[in-house]
Amino acid sequence: MIGRFTDHGEVLDTHDVAHLRRAVQLARQASADGDAPYGAVLVGADGLVLAEGRNATVSTGELISHAELNAIRAADPARVAGATMYASGEPCAMCSGAMHWARLGRVVFGASIPSIRTMFPTSPSIGTRCADLLRTGTHRVQVIGPVLEEECLAVFFP
Ligand SMILES: [Zn+2]
Repeated sequence: MIGRFTDHGEVLDTHDVAHLRRAVQLARQASADGDAPYGAVLVGADGLVLAEGRNATVSTGELISHAELNAIRAADPARVAGATMYASGEPCAMCSGAMHWARLGRVVFGASIPSIRTMFPTSPSIGTRCADLLRTGTHRVQVIGPVLEEECLAVFFP
């Protein structure tokens, strides 16, 4: 059920849900290739998809090849300001920092860091919440999530 997900009372629309579900598909593709199941879609302020990304840490051997970073890198830098990042999992501190430097306007994420940590307590992770980190930045990025969390957590069990 779509409703209010943010402390600002923002309601997500059908486009938001569709983009987040695309991020979930990308997470499943990553998983199928042996990578961590995370996907991301970057959508410009005009509503057009700028880039997609998925985790590729195993398949590329690049340890910081996270979905959100890959989406930002794949997008036209001239168009990322004000964009929205849809991420199947809550962005880590590294990716949250990247979203700040790229001057995104908003992030909508699925599975929260606490939920993922509860499921996989021994897996490496950084506990800093995306909203907590971005709140400290000079550029404001709105954070919405968790959204569709059950669906987004399901990617961890292919
Ligand atoms: Zn990350």
